[in-house]
Amino acid sequence: MVQKLLVTKDAGRTRAIAVAPGVTVGGGAPVVIAGPCSVESREQILAAAEAVRAAGAHMLRGGAFKPRTSPYSFQGLGEEGLRLLAEARAATGLPVVTEIMDIADIALVASYADLLQVGSRNMHNFPLLQALGACGKPVLLKRGFAATLDEWLNAAEYVVVGGNEQVILCERGIRTFESYTRNTLDLGSAVAAKQLTHLPVIADPSHGCGRRELVAPLARASLAAGLDGVIIEVHPEPDQALSDGDQTLPTSEFAALMADLARLSSGG
Ligand code: PEP
Ligand code: MN
Repeated sequence: MVQKLLVTKDAGRTRAIAVAPGVTVGGGAPVVIAGPCSVESREQILAAAEAVRAAGAHMLRGGAFKPRTSPYSFQGLGEEGLRLLAEARAATGLPVVTEIMDIADIALVASYADLLQVGSRNMHNFPLLQALGACGKPVLLKRGFAATLDEWLNAAEYVVVGGNEQVILCERGIRTFESYTRNTLDLGSAVAAKQLTHLPVIADPSHGCGRRELVAPLARASLAAGLDGVIIEVHPEPDQALSDGDQTLPTSEFAALMADLARLSSGG
């Protein structure tokens, strides 16, 4: 990298970002964020939240505003989805992360969510990134699926220079010639992002491969590589999911993964 950025690693700075009381990303212990791709119903999000909490997840995910490839696909429940996420947080104590797609919705989403996710498709949305500089909440910045490492770090710079230093980077897979997997999880760039910046870096193995059977091994690899956490799609009935069911773990498989991760981190 030629130009020194505000996000460039600086020995005097901490990587830790407190997302909510008791939940810090980049503080040493890896953070696991889990939940469905989309909030679909009260019953679904409450069941998912309870299951991931019982398995040991630290935060709940769920999209209310969904960036879908087709305009005919489920677009999310909007504000009703945000209300349901807040209800799931109250029921479980898990802080929530959800996607922000539109500048006009920032105040609304920030009033419900603990962490605002910028999706892969919006990583290059510079007005949105600039506006998030003043949102007052931490931002989870996903890597664009065709973005270089440098473009990704500069996207983070937009939020930081706008006044918000609380940016968590998320590697979620890039588009390559490989078609067996939906995307190619680029752990090399994720590790490089940690070496080059003072920001926490997590991985999204669900979008990173698009195949349920690959999610757990890639989650283990992400933490073994020293990343600060993972975000994983989990649903009580993945085959009925309204989005991303193919890459979504049933709650039983998520619980098994959490047990594996605990074993690995204790060296057992
Ligand atoms: C998601 O998290 O469900 C999502 C849409 O992610 P991405 O922006 O990485 O595709
Ligand atoms: Mn998804």
